[in-house]
Amino acid sequence: MLHEENTLLMDKLKSECEKCSGLCCTALFFSKIDGFPKDKIAGIPCVNLLENYQCKIHSQLNQKKMKGCIGYDCFGAGQQVTQVVYKGKTWDAFPKQKSEIFDVFLKVYYLHQIRYFLIDSLLNISDVIIKEKIVKLLDENIEICDESPHRLMAFDVEEHRNKVNTVLKQVCALIQQMYNSENNHCPDDYFGKSFIKKNLSGFDLSSKLLIAADFTDCIFRGTIFLGADTRDANFNNADLSGAIFLTQGQINSSKGNSNTKIPSHLFYPPTWM
Ligand code: SF4
Repeated sequence: MLHEENTLLMDKLKSECEKCSGLCCTALFFSKIDGFPKDKIAGIPCVNLLENYQCKIHSQLNQKKMKGCIGYDCFGAGQQVTQVVYKGKTWDAFPKQKSEIFDVFLKVYYLHQIRYFLIDSLLNISDVIIKEKIVKLLDENIEICDESPHRLMAFDVEEHRNKVNTVLKQVCALIQQMYNSENNHCPDDYFGKSFIKKNLSGFDLSSKLLIAADFTDCIFRGTIFLGADTRDANFNNADLSGAIFLTQGQINSSKGNSNTKIPSHLFYPPTWM
């Protein structure tokens, strides 16, 4: 599979809210403490969701410190469910199918998230055997997300995720080898700590709490961000262009500026400009 094809596949995982029916603002539960407007149970629309599925306070999210809303990214699951799986049918127009639509949205969200890591793997490794395994899993993932709600609900996401996790572990080991990072000393504690001007290339930051850490002017080539919590981490002037498994949600939740370099498939959040 060519680099350009993978980039195109990645583009499909960019959320297009105008093609969705406010699924994330309705289907999910959220709480005020996590930076959402109010505590809300799953399946009820947010108080700020308008009839046209737009957010009443969209332009003020930053000013109102709605960090949960700013940080959330659906990996394009919203438009896939609304436009492809349900062919334009929306949860409010078909109340009897509402909970099924929300369940399908959650399932497609997990599948798109998994797909994101598969494509990012293809963009970053050259090992032919591992790439073949990834392409097979990618085909399975893409095929099921275009299926009917019934088939999607019957699909075993956990089994798919377990197969993907096995391959992702191999990808991480390869990346570590490429950056000879077994010799790198990777600290355990990042929470609120300062790493200004450090070269963190090849570090495995998977599942690390990077909350409020200062990474100003840092370099992150081949640094693995799988599941890292980047809330309020400061990436001003940092080079994240070679970061692995860094997601739009992680970028949205952190701080940066127009000098921060990011992977080409991600975009600069308005809060960074
Ligand atoms: S405030 Fe806006 S973006 Fe946040 S959940 Fe409500 S409608 Fe969605």
